[in-house]
Amino acid sequence: MTDPTGDVAERAAAGFTTRYGHQAAGRWAAPGRVNLIGEHTDYNDGFVLPFALPLRTIVAAGRQDGERWTVWSELSDEAITFGADDVAEPGRVTGWGAYVAGVVWALREAGHPVPGARLAIASDVPLGSGLSSSAALESAVLAALLDLGGLELPAERQPRLAQRAENVYVGAPTGIMDQSAVIRCRAGHALFLDCRDESVEHIPFDLGAAGLAVLVIDSRAPHRHADGEYAARRRSCETAAKALGVSALRDVAVDQLDAALARLDDEETRRRVRHVVTEDQRVLDTVALLRAGRVRDIGPLLTASHVSMRDDFEITVPEIDTAVEAALAAGALGARMTGGGFGGCVLALVDTDRADAVAAAVTAAYAERGFTAPSTVPVLPAPGATRLD
Ligand code: ADP
Ligand code: MG
Repeated sequence: MTDPTGDVAERAAAGFTTRYGHQAAGRWAAPGRVNLIGEHTDYNDGFVLPFALPLRTIVAAGRQDGERWTVWSELSDEAITFGADDVAEPGRVTGWGAYVAGVVWALREAGHPVPGARLAIASDVPLGSGLSSSAALESAVLAALLDLGGLELPAERQPRLAQRAENVYVGAPTGIMDQSAVIRCRAGHALFLDCRDESVEHIPFDLGAAGLAVLVIDSRAPHRHADGEYAARRRSCETAAKALGVSALRDVAVDQLDAALARLDDEETRRRVRHVVTEDQRVLDTVALLRAGRVRDIGPLLTASHVSMRDDFEITVPEIDTAVEAALAAGALGARMTGGGFGGCVLALVDTDRADAVAAAVTAAYAERGFTAPSTVPVLPAPGATRLD
């Protein structure tokens, strides 16, 4: 067995050797990601601003003969083997192996001859917390298979392929943000992504130089009705866009917001629209401040985003609001829920020397209310997917 407390890259290499009896040909890494600001803007053709985490998924891999793929993860006891029939169409491999088989399927569908391979996976990215362990897994596997096969696929085309693996083979409807962030982010930068045309720009976000960190707080809140509520929010936005005669809410500029709201007769829909339109503007304002090197000054925008999600989009839960309030009271410069809502993570912008105090304050507030203890980790913007050796 591998040592689960050891370095993740070493765990992947050791797992490979133990499982397959020889050394891997190489190791590939892909990070988790967190969205700094821009929530529920993606399906409204708007803007998001994720950055990559120092938490990573590592794939150690080597070729094997024939069209066979064997994959082991430290999170499951058994290795899974699948062949060409299993990747002929979606649905044949299920469970976590589907994320791997999905990448093989998507590559083949795009006309790439995928080499048979053995893979061993280790990860520091928590699963199902909204930090995109799924995209990290797909992207690390994709990078490994491309290199093992000597296949050329430009970085800007890789997110779509990994997304297709997840949307079609796994059957999870997600936007393009996760894979774009995981594959294309750079250290010390956030990724400004326009979800309409999928263009990206690397925005300086050098927290370390500013003496700052982002504290990622896993709320541990159980996801309550998240799928149904997500679908309902999407429907509201589509209905509103139709009523306003625009192809997506991104097309409502913030200075036209009052006029647009006056044309909607339902109060709930008005609040939903106000969130999306103001959130797009907050992303643009955040980008402008970061471009000007004013990292500290983005705090109020983060907090305003949270208030908008809480009051207008109504997607927060008590654990999340508690974490944000406690972080701000303990001196965070800004704090907000990140991700789709109804659970997941909170991020807080903190002075590095306040990180422990803010984490302790959130933990104390949770204990007072009887919530399951949160986990907290300070992070700096890390690189996207890459080959290690
Ligand atoms: P998130 O992406 O927010 O972590 P998802 O539900 O989208 O949550 O993806 C989590 C799923 O991805 C897990 O349930 C598992 O099937 C798969 N997965 C992610 N990382 C790993 C890993 N290291 N080993 C095995 N499966 C993984
Ligand atoms: Mg995911």
